[in-house]
Amino acid sequence: MTEEDREIQAKARAFADELIPFEVQAEMNSGELPSDIVAGHEARVRDLGFEAINMPKELGGGGFTTFQQFLVQEQVGRVTNALGWVIHTPASWLPDVATDFQMDRWVLPTIKGELRECYAITEEGAGSDVDGIEATASRDGDEYVLNGVKWHVTSFNLSEYLFFQAKLASGPNTGAHAMFIMDLDTPGIRVVRSPAYSHTYAHHHAIVAFEDVRVPAPHLVGQEGDGMRFAHEWFRYERLMIAARSLGAAERLIEEATAFARDRHAYGKAILDYQAIQFMLADSLTELWAARAMSYRTAQGVDEGIDVKVQHAQCSMAKLYASEMAGRVADRAVQIFGGRGYMRENVAERFYRELRVDRIWEGTSEIQRIIIADQLAKRGVRTLVG
Ligand SMILES: Cc1cc2nc3c(=O)[nH]c(=O)nc-3n(C[C@H](O)[C@H](O)[C@H](O)COP(=O)(O)OP(=O)(O)OC[C@H]3O[C@@H](n4cnc5c(N)ncnc54)[C@H](O)[C@@H]3O)c2cc1C
Repeated sequence: MTEEDREIQAKARAFADELIPFEVQAEMNSGELPSDIVAGHEARVRDLGFEAINMPKELGGGGFTTFQQFLVQEQVGRVTNALGWVIHTPASWLPDVATDFQMDRWVLPTIKGELRECYAITEEGAGSDVDGIEATASRDGDEYVLNGVKWHVTSFNLSEYLFFQAKLASGPNTGAHAMFIMDLDTPGIRVVRSPAYSHTYAHHHAIVAFEDVRVPAPHLVGQEGDGMRFAHEWFRYERLMIAARSLGAAERLIEEATAFARDRHAYGKAILDYQAIQFMLADSLTELWAARAMSYRTAQGVDEGIDVKVQHAQCSMAKLYASEMAGRVADRAVQIFGGRGYMRENVAERFYRELRVDRIWEGTSEIQRIIIADQLAKRGVRTLVG
């Protein structure tokens, strides 16, 4: 780590420590905090220079390296209830493909923290198999007409605009994917329902219908046929950042469970003195170290510009291992806390629920294994982990 890396890490850690005291209040209030507190957290993010850390400096972003972003996300991962999502990272691939119109209307205000986006890709019948989507986009003069129903649209309730992925239903690229950008108040966009999920977040995951939504042609992102390429770029980035947050969660859980085990006495001595407890903590720490070493190396490799296919496999390995590791650590932490570990005011209980989705979203563990095995068959062991 450079001096700058260490400074960024220390600042992010201190900020996460500022957020932690608000966790239980959020948990008991559907994930919500009073607006003045949220505004205060947003102001802190701006003061610390953590707004749009993944965006180039010349566009007003933080211009952080991938490794520095990883360090920030790792610290944010120590906080439950998605309070850490106040550090917002816009779509990193967008500035390279956005038109001047799209830059002015959506990208630059997002980098300034004035707008928030959400992603509408998954459907009832198509999740892992993104190519199975049935949403359509038909060209009609200077407009596209969009139809479809999207599931799990994260942050729809807190966003101003969205990305919508569809298959072209007309023209020379019929059947190819295309991505569109539009404001949420575009006529024809309707919330079908907003289901409850395991975690208690202010960010909801709505099911959203798009019924003859008309958007001008300049709302197409990139070219017709580009839709899947953007999804893959975003997956690679987000998978690495899920690994980062998993590490932070595991670290917090090990620290809290160790402190509890030191204080908690049963049968006349601290439970930390019992091997059954020691072994759970030892396994957790060992796995955290392994996950951290591989994930740091992966993030640094991205900065060094290693082959993008190798990046793809390594990001999948980092996400797979770190998310499953954090799940095991959370399970053990609940066990160490005993009955307290089942109470919603307990950090282990919240993480036990919250971390589960990290093995599902941005590609399930099974999909990560498929990607890794595919790259192994194509490139061999030494290329991927040599
Ligand atoms: C809280 C939450 C937020 C989300 N946010 C968003 C969002 O903002 N935008 C968005 O577009 N989507 C979002 N998603 C969707 C998420 O990306 C999908 O849930 C995920 O990709 C899995 O798809 P699925 O749920 O349809 O499961 P499926 O694809 O139906 O998979 C079901 C099971 O089958 C397994 N499986 C599937 N294919 C294979 C295979 N080839 N081999 C072996 N096993 C296989 C899977 O691993 C899984 O265990 C979100 C999901 C959740 C839970």
